Amino acid sequence: MEIDKILVVGTGAMGGGIAQAALEGGCSIRLVDKDENRAAQAVERIRSRLERRLTEGKIQDRESEEMLGRITTVPDLSSCGDAQLVIEAASEKESVKEAIFRQLDAVALPSAIFASNTSAISITRLASLSGRPGKFIGMHFMNPAHVMKLVEVIPGLETTGETVEAIVGLCLKLGKRAVVVADSPGFVANRLLMPAINQAIHALQEGVASREDIDNVMRLGAGHPMGPLELADFIGLDICLEILETLCLELGETYRPCPLLRKMVAGGRLGKKSGGGFYDY
Ligand code: NAD
Repeated sequence: MEIDKILVVGTGAMGGGIAQAALEGGCSIRLVDKDENRAAQAVERIRSRLERRLTEGKIQDRESEEMLGRITTVPDLSSCGDAQLVIEAASEKESVKEAIFRQLDAVALPSAIFASNTSAISITRLASLSGRPGKFIGMHFMNPAHVMKLVEVIPGLETTGETVEAIVGLCLKLGKRAVVVADSPGFVANRLLMPAINQAIHALQEGVASREDIDNVMRLGAGHPMGPLELADFIGLDICLEILETLCLELGETYRPCPLLRKMVAGGRLGKKSGGGFYDY
């Protein structure tokens, strides 16, 4: 099955990037967020990124217009229409995702595939609540989704081979490399990345080095494009905390979130999206 009609649910940092990647891959997109303004803002961000590419001569005027003609915002999940795939990129809370999938099962095409962009929540558990476990899968895009080339594809216990094939095919169509990984806490990306971020926060809390120097060590010493504290701000400190809570629960104490991370989130310093995290923006 070739997928070209997609509903993206949740239009924050990830939903907007996923929508742009799918637009550039030739798909038609409906966008929905519980806050309608956020869906409209996501379209505006896509428009301005396309304008930048236009001025850089990377795309033509008509290409940009044609792409923007294939994206629309809708008021709620019942406007999912004939979407063949729903990609959920709402907040990293199991209760939020569960409510979305339960509601969607009643209104989406019975043949539609449901995918979650969760960073760490069990795909098998979400699938079991979705009413269609055979057609449920994890699609973990990296941030920014319209730029990064990797998608972790995570089949749940009951996901059919046909579903995996359709999603891997879609990743190729979007110009992404699909890596199929088992449904295990944090999959591969966050199982490896989050301990590094958490340890960087511990190092800052203990005064081992300044925030800049902790980041410099990993940028200049390990060749990472961003230091771990910079990266945590970019991901969102609330998202990092949610992921570490899940990993700690499922994999043990090694993943217990650093108290400084909890404090920052409690104080509303969520990183780039709130105007300040470890750095000010
Ligand atoms: P975000 O906080 O930027 O955006 C979440 C959006 O979901 C918000 O616009 C919010 O209004 C919306 N939302 C919340 N409840 C909703 C509901 N019931 N219906 C519709 N919309 C709803 O979060 P994000 O960083 O875009 O993360 C979204 C998902 O992607 C999470 O599961 C996260 O773990 C995952 N993810 C994040 C990153 C990252 O770097 N931030 C990377 C990969 C995956």
